[in-house]
Amino acid sequence: MLNFHLTDDQLSLRERARQFAVAHVLPVAWYYDEKDEIPVKVLDKAMDAGFMNADIPAAYGGQGVGLLEAALVTEEMAAACPGIATSIFDSSLGLEPLILSDNEALKKKIFARVLLEGSRVSFATSEPTMGSDVSGIRCEARDAGDHYLLTGTKYWITNGGVSHFMSVFATVDPKAGHAGIGAFLVDMQCHGITVGKPIPKMGQRCSNTVGVHFNQVKVPKTQVLAEPGQGFALAMKTFARTRPIIGAFAVGAARSAMEFALDYAKKRRAFGSPLSDFQAIQFKLAEMYQKVETARLLTWKAAWKADQGQDPTIDASIAKFYATEAAWEVVDEAMQILGGYGYTKMFPVEKLMRDIRLLRIYEGTSEIQRLIVSGWLLSSYKPAMPPLEDLPLHREVDPETSPDQTAWRCRVCGYVHYGEAPPEVCPTCFFPVAAFKNG
Ligand SMILES: Cc1cc2nc3c(=O)[nH]c(=O)nc-3n(C[C@H](O)[C@H](O)[C@H](O)COP(=O)(O)OP(=O)(O)OC[C@H]3O[C@@H](n4cnc5c(N)ncnc54)[C@H](O)[C@@H]3O)c2cc1C
Repeated sequence: MLNFHLTDDQLSLRERARQFAVAHVLPVAWYYDEKDEIPVKVLDKAMDAGFMNADIPAAYGGQGVGLLEAALVTEEMAAACPGIATSIFDSSLGLEPLILSDNEALKKKIFARVLLEGSRVSFATSEPTMGSDVSGIRCEARDAGDHYLLTGTKYWITNGGVSHFMSVFATVDPKAGHAGIGAFLVDMQCHGITVGKPIPKMGQRCSNTVGVHFNQVKVPKTQVLAEPGQGFALAMKTFARTRPIIGAFAVGAARSAMEFALDYAKKRRAFGSPLSDFQAIQFKLAEMYQKVETARLLTWKAAWKADQGQDPTIDASIAKFYATEAAWEVVDEAMQILGGYGYTKMFPVEKLMRDIRLLRIYEGTSEIQRLIVSGWLLSSYKPAMPPLEDLPLHREVDPETSPDQTAWRCRVCGYVHYGEAPPEVCPTCFFPVAAFKNG
């Protein structure tokens, strides 16, 4: 049964997240953006309120919330500040490889610690010389008996400077591509880890983004999330579950930009009327709302599919690239409606624009999502329509004289010929008789 209703529990979770976001995230967002600093206190509050690490499964003592619930919470946080939302959500990204891993002993140990100590977990595939091409990882994991030694640099790591654990993807052989990649849960207190200076960014300045260097960091084999050769697949499965959440970031940010524009359009007057009286502005608002709604539906569908235990890969990619690109268009129109004020740092739209530009880049760029969807379409999509050359032909050209005529279709140009035999040459494309197929 198809059902778009949220349950009472989901509605109350969303309401709690909304109240939290308006009370604790919105007021500090511009202050920390200006300071280019992560508000760790807000992360702690989010942890205390149960909005971080909420996806640790109930079997390990966690809340075990589904992706749909995570999308509801994320939309609210991102509506207040996409940067702080990134930092709140990042721990889920960091935990996902462990949730998906089959290392039961590690799950029991780490989930218990994370819950008890309120730990933050970050995620690291990217490096200074690779991002999209995960198979190009160079950070090395050298087998040293009962442990691995990690050496290399991870780059762009969200919360890298404030996390307690990190899911690190590294390779036993940089030349082996996918086949060499494994995943390791690293305690950030380990000897040999150096955290770089925060990377100065255009937006999402309330989130911490750093490079992290590993110099022969000892990781016990008990902390392997995926054996060498299995790490690439684990990274892809992780992204399939976290990309719907990037869709939720986009929905939240676009929704708040639309709401600010709606408010402004009703109050600002030009040529003797409120802006909202002008049809050009009304149409912009209608299209902004249409994009927010569409993006939310795609996001929820991908999250729902994952919660049903189905593979969400394609829906997740569609949700991510649609929602993040739609959000850019919505925020751009919001800036247009606010006119000069939209372009200032005194109203929120300028920050939203800087913040959401990142959504089309991290966790797989828009181009990578298109590659995933087109790759699947070309290899696995099951069409309902017959192939062009097998299109059924209408045979009753004249029901009186010839009720069931033989028909031939030219496979090159689609021309249909009626008669006992095909023509020697196609009269439109001039291909010879062999091009004709009996339909
Ligand atoms: C603020 C921020 C936070 C981040 N947080 C994290 C994090 O926590 N953990 C982590 O591991 N990473 C993180 N990243 C890294 C992020 O995931 C990468 O930046 C992203 O995957 C793109 O990789 P890249 O920057 O190396 O670009 P590249 O892979 O070099 O790509 C450059 C351009 O080429 C395009 N391109 C590449 N290959 C193809 C192709 N085959 N066909 C068509 N176009 C292609 C890309 O789409 C892009 O437009 C973060 C990045 C930023 C900026």
